[in-house]
Amino acid sequence: MRKHFFILLGTRPEAIKLFPVINRLKAEQNKDISLTVCATAQHRELLDQVLKMAKVVPDFDLDVMTVNQTLDNLTGRLLAQIGDVLERVKPTRVIVQGDTATAMAGALASYYHRVPVSHVEAGLRSGDIFAPWPEEVNRKIVGSIADQHFAPTERAARALRAENVSNDRIHVTGNTVVDALIIAKAMVEADPQLSSRWDGIKKRHGNRRIILVTCHRRENFGGGVLNIVNALETILSREDVAVVLPVHPNPNVRDVFAARLADHPRVVLISPQEYTDFVSLLSMAHLVLTDSGGVQEEAPTFGKPVLVMRETTERPEGVDAGTARLVGANYDRIVGETFRLLDDDETYAAMSRSHNPFGDGRASERIVKVLLDA
Ligand code: UDP
Repeated sequence: MRKHFFILLGTRPEAIKLFPVINRLKAEQNKDISLTVCATAQHRELLDQVLKMAKVVPDFDLDVMTVNQTLDNLTGRLLAQIGDVLERVKPTRVIVQGDTATAMAGALASYYHRVPVSHVEAGLRSGDIFAPWPEEVNRKIVGSIADQHFAPTERAARALRAENVSNDRIHVTGNTVVDALIIAKAMVEADPQLSSRWDGIKKRHGNRRIILVTCHRRENFGGGVLNIVNALETILSREDVAVVLPVHPNPNVRDVFAARLADHPRVVLISPQEYTDFVSLLSMAHLVLTDSGGVQEEAPTFGKPVLVMRETTERPEGVDAGTARLVGANYDRIVGETFRLLDDDETYAAMSRSHNPFGDGRASERIVKVLLDA
């Protein structure tokens, strides 16, 4: 039977985690297998950076992003517009990734149009519907609609079984972010222009330990971001560290970081980076402070300790493996654990084992095999 896959993506992490699947499926296209890629562009600029790097040109671009978009308004527009495209394209299967409004509305629209759904990165759960908000509920909704669940880890598979998803619908594949990371790393190593991208920072701060910081989670807006900036200022009182911070364009974080850190001599504030450039930053960093999901999954490949600036994580595999630690958006814990990693070689060595519990770089291969065999 002819298979027509329809892949939906709306944000930077979806594009990063789906481009390895898209490129593999593209290579399989023939008279019986076809592929349509639909970008909702829930986040315009950050998405475009990845699409360009991965050479993915969407067949549809819904361009739904508006200034100050609210969740309800965004979801309503996504649902209606994805529904319209499904009506025109009539795919045999929709593939969504993760826990965004695009994934959730895409799954719901597919259900209304009676198209089966595959969920990439299925089974992540924090157990708290307000942390992360609204992602925990988004992914639960996708999970209740999907009939193919690509769980990155055994733990994610267990969470799905506990919600009565039948075992034959769950496939443990690894997380495709590790595939993406390996591809990006190879691109950097093969291109002298990419591999020399950060020579300026190395020259200026090479004898300092570089702390890579990313912060964009909704739960940290307001008081959390202020605690984080205060902690960074204290950490920066040491001459032996430099902070590199690609600033998320959301004004809730951008404006605070710019006002408080822009003039500091050992802070490098930069705009959101191309994926390949971010991967080079990761390999250069001594340790990582982040509230991002994807960055928690990537850092162990390079053996970089991660301090997670959240109270809970739906990705506890890093904490269990000893490569990540939860510090919340809490001043004392951020400063205390950072200083410990800077001063205690044993702690640093224990957290910097380069083993990635999230995947082995072959997730997209496994996913495509299931998609083609089903
Ligand atoms: N990333 C990037 N450029 C940057 C910062 C992050 O390409 O300047 C990548 C990072 O490697 C990871 C992904 O973006 O794969 C994480 O996205 P984000 O933190 O926006 O979302 P989350 O993972 O928390 O959903």
